[in-house]
Amino acid sequence: MFSKLLFSFCGLSLIYSAKAQNISYARFVIDTLCSPYMAGRGGPDEGEKKAAHYIASEFKKLELNPLGDNYLQPFIYPLNIFNGKISMYADDKLLEPGVDFLINPSSASIKGTFDLVWYNKNNVPNKKTLYKLAKKNFFTNKLIVLDLFKAEENKKDFDFLLENPMGASGIILLKQNKLTWGKSTSCKTFASIDMKAEVLPLHTKKITLDIENTFLEKFESRNIVGYLKGAEVPDSFLVFTAHYDHLGKMGHSVYFPGANDNASGVAMLLNLAEYFSKTPHRYSTVFIAFGGEEAGLLGSAAFVQQPLIPLNKIKFLINFDITGTGDEGVTVVNATLHEKEFLKMQEINSLNKYLKQVKKRGPAANSDHYFFAKNGVPCFYIYTMGGLSAYHDIYDRPETLPLTKFEDYFRLIRDFCLSF
Ligand SMILES: [Zn+2]
Repeated sequence: MFSKLLFSFCGLSLIYSAKAQNISYARFVIDTLCSPYMAGRGGPDEGEKKAAHYIASEFKKLELNPLGDNYLQPFIYPLNIFNGKISMYADDKLLEPGVDFLINPSSASIKGTFDLVWYNKNNVPNKKTLYKLAKKNFFTNKLIVLDLFKAEENKKDFDFLLENPMGASGIILLKQNKLTWGKSTSCKTFASIDMKAEVLPLHTKKITLDIENTFLEKFESRNIVGYLKGAEVPDSFLVFTAHYDHLGKMGHSVYFPGANDNASGVAMLLNLAEYFSKTPHRYSTVFIAFGGEEAGLLGSAAFVQQPLIPLNKIKFLINFDITGTGDEGVTVVNATLHEKEFLKMQEINSLNKYLKQVKKRGPAANSDHYFFAKNGVPCFYIYTMGGLSAYHDIYDRPETLPLTKFEDYFRLIRDFCLSF
């Protein structure tokens, strides 16, 4: 990037210096949100709260106005967290949490050494036999290892096993592909673990576990909301949203940085706030960082239930969730609902050659735009494509987040907003 800067002539160097500023601010925001101090922006170590206060402090620096007494819109939700011990041995081999296995987000605590019952798609007894065995306490103090990945095609036939009607102490689900974590608002009555198939050899006899969960009935979260007054029509709004929460920690040592998901989206949100703070739009611009997204779009649901601006005054809303690559362009969810706006965005993109493609997608309930769309707010959810396979795992880290097309993506959004 710098070598380009040196050789560019005067006119272009202005553009490049603006570019450098965008990307360095984005990097700084992402590094901060992904730092161990933020603890994966989830339940343990007040990670979600720390991230919220950091974003509020950035809003203040950018001189955004609050919509209430302050930037925070609190809400509560139930959350199952793992803020204690996590250890696991297969026979005598110590397994690495986050790498070899993930605790199912809704797992209960478990401690002890357990014999294993191995089931694959060829030897799972029928339900009647399973219940008979359960009645005879066959599964008491045992873990059931489900080696079902080869049964992907008729996975549904085996889904009931995951709910452990056999009453075993726990279920270990072997996975052939990458391990993917999440958040849960409920807690099972038994332990549940996802494990990479290759780390548990067939001859393994016993597993020793020590896992601690805490179920929080009223976990406190908050959205961060700020706005900049419009230059011509201040009672109409362009709204930008990005969730700042992520998956938090699993035990003391494993945390999920969530660089692409969604520190990158918050970086885009703050870059847009910075831009519109210097160059006010004719409409008021509103910036919302949501909590609770990973637990089921809970922050955006809370906002739509108690909107701080009239929803029918929103001219357009853009939600950013996964903004860190762009090698293959971007996908626009709700493009089919708002054809005119989508074509405008495509036109801006091809005129300026910002991104490889701006791809159309229909409605989907996969991020914080969803409840706005359901309530009649015109909106897009846009995400970048290509470049990374890390997703909801410990590998979604700032040092490997390329931000390949971040600046051109920013310009596309900026130009699109100026068309309103
Ligand atoms: Zn996510």
